[in-house]
Amino acid sequence: MSAPRPEGGRRPALAVFKLASCDGCQLTLLDCEDELLNVAERVEIAHFLEASSAVRPGPYDLALVEGSVTTPQDAQRIREIRAAARFLVTIGACATAGGIQALRNFADVEEFRATVYARPEYIATLATSTPVSAHVPVDFELRGCPIDRGQLLEVITAFLAGRKPDVPNHSVCFACKRRGTVCVTVAHGTPCLGPVTHAGCGAICPAYGRGCYGCFGPSGSVNLPALIPLLRRDGMSEDDVRRTLRTYNAASFAEVEGAPS
Ligand code: SF4
Ligand code: SF4
Repeated sequence: MSAPRPEGGRRPALAVFKLASCDGCQLTLLDCEDELLNVAERVEIAHFLEASSAVRPGPYDLALVEGSVTTPQDAQRIREIRAAARFLVTIGACATAGGIQALRNFADVEEFRATVYARPEYIATLATSTPVSAHVPVDFELRGCPIDRGQLLEVITAFLAGRKPDVPNHSVCFACKRRGTVCVTVAHGTPCLGPVTHAGCGAICPAYGRGCYGCFGPSGSVNLPALIPLLRRDGMSEDDVRRTLRTYNAASFAEVEGAPS
């Protein structure tokens, strides 16, 4: 990977876009209170509607995209964003896995539309919610619901420096061990998705005595056939297991070998 090389000594142009999402991942960038001024000194924030109505058209050196593709307009917009961006990074479970709105992928979207909206004919939607990578090439996917601010700063810094982001894809169990947290499954028989979940949150839930909810999606090496019997042993029914894997990263976990149908 080579760094954005803006011409004429100008600062690299950073753009942040939103598709179908709750804005939580964009807010993570605004939440980088101490580091935000440093970032703003090093890049030109060319498009970031969450922060400013002052925008300029592309091209952009780095585009961060939040949200999944759920409408025909989203599908068209992401192609335009890709065409305008030298590097495109997706941020969050919606953009990398389809998000919680991908629950529609397991159901009848027409039935949802008729149940939820008084005038369903006004709602233009696709039958599925899909990650950005299903539509255009993506240079890096940053996971989490929401993303971790430290990982976000690492990704921005890495692209500005022209190196690969240092975002390991090991499981939450590694983070648990690193912070010295007692395993809630071993000590208390609490069901936990940590062994199959991508690290990034710092193992917050086990640190507070709860099992991991899988917010960051599947880790680099997932063994559901080994985990599911443990979840069942610790009190989960078959339906509980299915439901616990069908939250923020439902579509990603569904693709893993051994996932409940
Ligand atoms: S990944 Fe989670 S926090 Fe981020 S936009 Fe989607 S729902 Fe919101
Ligand atoms: S509490 Fe969960 S994430 Fe932590 S070590 Fe145990 S199984 Fe892994």
